[in-house]
Amino acid sequence: MSHCIFCQIVSGRAPASVVYEDDLVMAFMDLNQPNPYKVLLIPREHRETIYELDDDLAAAIFQATVKIARAIQAASACDGLNIIQSNGLAAQQDVFHFHLHLLPRYHNDAIVLAWDFSRSDRDVLDRLAGDIRARLQ
Ligand SMILES: [Zn+2]
Repeated sequence: MSHCIFCQIVSGRAPASVVYEDDLVMAFMDLNQPNPYKVLLIPREHRETIYELDDDLAAAIFQATVKIARAIQAASACDGLNIIQSNGLAAQQDVFHFHLHLLPRYHNDAIVLAWDFSRSDRDVLDRLAGDIRARLQ
């Protein structure tokens, strides 16, 4: 049994508001939302760092990233999107499963936007995820 929360999400043992999934990757709403429509994207199999991705998995991750980025833009009318990868103790991570943050920018290209999101509000996350899923092409 894995203690990795992302592996638990992949296996369905932990809840997530899923945005996208295929054979190789999965994307879901981040519980920590500095603004609406931030998405986390992970390989389904546990890989700790970017250096452990083979070429096929790397290609699948970037293809899904672009697909989801377009859907986030369509759903949110964001100004742009930051894609952030960080891992390891130096990045103050507590989940050691490779992941990308797809972080939209709003109003004058700002990342952080004050909004009344509640961390525990699964209904909000499900709605945001549904907005993106509806716009995947
Ligand atoms: Zn994992």
